Amino acid sequence: MTTCTGAAFEQLKTAFPSKFVTSDAESEYNVAVAVPWSQTCWTPAAGYVYLSNVQELTKALAIVKKAGVKFSIRTTGHNPNPGFSSADATAIVLDIRNLQSKDLGPDNTARFGSGNTWGEVYAWLEERKLSAIGGRDQQVGLGGFLLGGGMGALPHLFGLGADGVKNFEVLLADGTLVNANINENSDLYSVLKGGGSNFGIVTRFDLETHPLIAVQYMINLYNPEDHVEINKATVAVQEAMENDPRIGLFTNFNNGFVAVGLLYGDHPSESPAAFKPFHDLKSLIASPLPSTNGTLLSLAKAMGHEQEVKKRAICTMTTKVSQDLYEDVYNSWIEVCKTLPKDCVLHYTIQPFGKPGVQAGKDRGGNIMGHESVPQCWWVFTCEWPQKGSDDAAAQKAVAVMTESVQWLASKKKDLLDFKCMSFATASQKVLGSYGVDNVTRMKEAAAKYDPEGVFQKLQHGGFLLRDSI
Ligand SMILES: Cc1cc2nc3c(=O)[nH]c(=O)nc-3n(C[C@H](O)[C@H](O)[C@H](O)COP(=O)(O)OP(=O)(O)OC[C@H]3O[C@@H](n4cnc5c(N)ncnc54)[C@H](O)[C@@H]3O)c2cc1C
Repeated sequence: MTTCTGAAFEQLKTAFPSKFVTSDAESEYNVAVAVPWSQTCWTPAAGYVYLSNVQELTKALAIVKKAGVKFSIRTTGHNPNPGFSSADATAIVLDIRNLQSKDLGPDNTARFGSGNTWGEVYAWLEERKLSAIGGRDQQVGLGGFLLGGGMGALPHLFGLGADGVKNFEVLLADGTLVNANINENSDLYSVLKGGGSNFGIVTRFDLETHPLIAVQYMINLYNPEDHVEINKATVAVQEAMENDPRIGLFTNFNNGFVAVGLLYGDHPSESPAAFKPFHDLKSLIASPLPSTNGTLLSLAKAMGHEQEVKKRAICTMTTKVSQDLYEDVYNSWIEVCKTLPKDCVLHYTIQPFGKPGVQAGKDRGGNIMGHESVPQCWWVFTCEWPQKGSDDAAAQKAVAVMTESVQWLASKKKDLLDFKCMSFATASQKVLGSYGVDNVTRMKEAAAKYDPEGVFQKLQHGGFLLRDSI
């Protein structure tokens, strides 16, 4: 492995004397290494450049490009795939968390620097009695979430996060800054809605806003032994979601409990009838978050609590909605859990998406992800384990086995869908290919047009990239 030294290293030191952190400054360096959510990404990079504005970012990109040095783009480091927003000794991390601008443009379009988190964005918007469609967790950043599609709390109300982007301000590999929207660079605009970091570095997201969205939410914990009824209730709520876009849901099967989020885009005086199947369950253990009349911000704060430092691996699959399949997946999960070391927790979440969400995306000009217009489940399997203790291979194998088994079970029942959500995928999954042949062609054409030298393919350290077999 060659380490990143030489001309680029010296030039970054000179250009950014107080913003280029290397192992020379041990304590700052250790802080920079330990930003990512998953300890699997705590891999020491050659250096970390903290960029505060577009001019600085342009300069840093020009230096790494000229020297042919590998780089990663990082906002919050929430993506748990090593090398995506982290790097090793061969590469530089371009940290854009300080791109913090916030302002309101014409038609209440809100313009946010890509270093903002959803907590920061929701808070700023709420002071103006506005909302935008973003993440369920306050600590997640705009960048990876919006470029990966972005599943919010109420995905049927106004579509996915990416659908709500009206304009991307993008730094291209040749150093030019362009806007991509329905009128300007519209080919770039549509591929950025789900196409990841293949085309440039997004420096600002201009988001559609709505009058402040009221959200009623509660999180209940149920006994997993009641899995048949819990799965039945999940399917019933998913069916109701097809007719009422204000409903949101997640069902998380975890170690000793099933956490269910019942979310509604209004403040009704009584819990919506659609949630009755859950309220009727006899297996309620606790309600850690009782019914609350709040907003996307208060929900994201409640969801975005400080998490233990752990190693993490994730994997995803998309299927149709089926009680039978959900049962089979539960049974597989029980078997896989038996193979795991004690300190390693494997949990999974059923994340519903359906026709109203697909339509909301089309109403906003469409995205590049090629969703089928059917009720569906975006599964995410997550394994968490301590840095010292369990071996990484056992944990990583567990998510892989789980995903393969869902793929097998669902294809047997003809319930398997192609789509894989970038936000929940492991590095080896063929995310871009899951969008369909035509969409891959559109992404390749856009990459060739906006990055003809292939800088983001050749020099970007990791990511769901067109360079990989898709
Ligand atoms: C606790 C937690 C909660 C989550 N909740 C949700 C949720 O509710 N819904 C959902 O859909 N997903 C959710 N996710 C997944 C999350 O959206 C992805 O992990 C996403 O990649 C994180 O983006 P980031 O910018 O915060 O992180 P980073 O790790 O910094 O970036 C992620 C990827 O995007 C690239 N990137 C970031 N910014 C830019 C940019 N401006 N231009 C070009 N490339 C860029 C990076 O290079 C990297 O490959 C959650 C993840 C965690 C850990």
